[in-house]
Amino acid sequence: MTQIKNYINGELVAPVSGEYLDNINPAEGKVYGQIPDSTSKDVEKATEAAKAAFEDWSNTPVTKRARVLNKIADLIDQNHERLAKAESEDNGKPLKLAMSVDIPRASANMRFYATGIQHFASESHYTEEGAINYTMRRPVGVAGCISPWNLPLYLFTWKIAPALAAGNTVVAKPSEVTPMTAFLFSELCIEAGLPSGVLNIVHGLGGKAGQAIIEHKDIPLISFTGGTETGKRIAATAAPMFKKLSLELGGKNPNIIFADCDFDKALSTSVISSFANQGQICLCGSRIFVEEEIHDKFVAAFVEKVKKMQVGDPAEESTRVGAVVSKPHMEKVLSYIKLGKEEGGEVLTGGQQVKLDGRCENGYFIEPTVITGLSHNCRTNQEEIFGPVVTIMPFNEEEEVIEYANSTAYGLAATIWTENLTKAHRVAHSVKSGIIWVNCWLLRDLRTPFGGMKQSGVGREGGWEALRFFTETKNVCIKL
Ligand code: NAD
Repeated sequence: MTQIKNYINGELVAPVSGEYLDNINPAEGKVYGQIPDSTSKDVEKATEAAKAAFEDWSNTPVTKRARVLNKIADLIDQNHERLAKAESEDNGKPLKLAMSVDIPRASANMRFYATGIQHFASESHYTEEGAINYTMRRPVGVAGCISPWNLPLYLFTWKIAPALAAGNTVVAKPSEVTPMTAFLFSELCIEAGLPSGVLNIVHGLGGKAGQAIIEHKDIPLISFTGGTETGKRIAATAAPMFKKLSLELGGKNPNIIFADCDFDKALSTSVISSFANQGQICLCGSRIFVEEEIHDKFVAAFVEKVKKMQVGDPAEESTRVGAVVSKPHMEKVLSYIKLGKEEGGEVLTGGQQVKLDGRCENGYFIEPTVITGLSHNCRTNQEEIFGPVVTIMPFNEEEEVIEYANSTAYGLAATIWTENLTKAHRVAHSVKSGIIWVNCWLLRDLRTPFGGMKQSGVGREGGWEALRFFTETKNVCIKL
């Protein structure tokens, strides 16, 4: 049993209270480790360390900061398999996915910002009245970074890398549901020679350790990724303290398939965008709208492909759908399938918990599920399920599908399938989402703004956006 430690002031330490929480392997439904049940006392120690480290780190030349971050990236690559195994064990995701997506992206995040910060420049403006303005962007101080369980190390590094590259020090909290790779990451930071106190990782519950970070008076900026309800609570605490806030929240993303699409590409990518990571990616297209003309053909072909997806042990090569992250989450997803039926939906495939044999007999597995026959405005189609469940609905007109797509409280991502370029632009323009993919899904360029509209969040990550967020702007005007 691994007993995870907090990473404070350059050392791996036990929580002040000495209390631990169970860490569960979702594919086995079994406790396999312990994580610190940290409190405000641990957050206090972490914040003190981060404050003390700020002066030096923020004045360290960017090339030096970049060197340490690149070293951490190298160590992630050297530990690729070990980290991928840990991620799969902790989260339930297929090992293959962790090997090909999660871990490579974690090192890419570190490298991207290690190099990005070296190109981050200040603007200067000549004013005709006879003045020069220059705009400085300096690190803010101690950044609070809080991340979710679905892409644990991937999203953890996505926040930490720009925060550190920009010269802030950090108090971070990974999800208590999937803490393992953040713990292994802290060991790599020590090995890489990251100066003490620059990054501090406090493990524990959101309402306790997480809330203590949000409330801390010496943490002036918060970068949070997680659920919309948690985001509301964080905003309510942080706003009156005038903290800088970046909130990446939930989604209920439309996947719009026009009759003039490349059918085979739309079909095969839609299977992935529906069920990758057991549908537990904030960008998954959980509402599929198919133009009437090809609706029946698409549904038949889609269901046939989904039926072939193997639900199984995440460690096995052939597994396409692993375990969902926890028992409560499995119960939540199953309750939405029940709701879908109560609302008049027809389950064309899936719908049940899967009982596997052997080591996974007590694991949390759900069949990939396809529901049809629902209206766009029922609860199943309005609320985020965040599991291996999609609905498919027909449409006739472009205006109609835009209305359906925009009908939820969310606005994170959307996918559009058409070979008509003009239509693609027109629809992309009208759909209220922060991220639109045309004829592809999850094709990421880390320079692009990433984030959602409406209840999917506030602010953008990625590229310069993140470096701007993690710096404070000061304009100096000099009269000539
Ligand atoms: P969650 O909101 O329950 O938890 C996210 C993190 O916040 C965890 O570390 C948790 O411990 C912490 N937390 C909980 N309460 C807190 C509080 N009061 N104060 C401070 N921290 C607190 O979300 P989750 O269940 O871990 O993740 C799933 C959600 O995340 C989904 O809604 C999904 O759409 C969303 N998500 C969004 C994005 C995005 O980029 N927009 C990416 C991934 C996941």
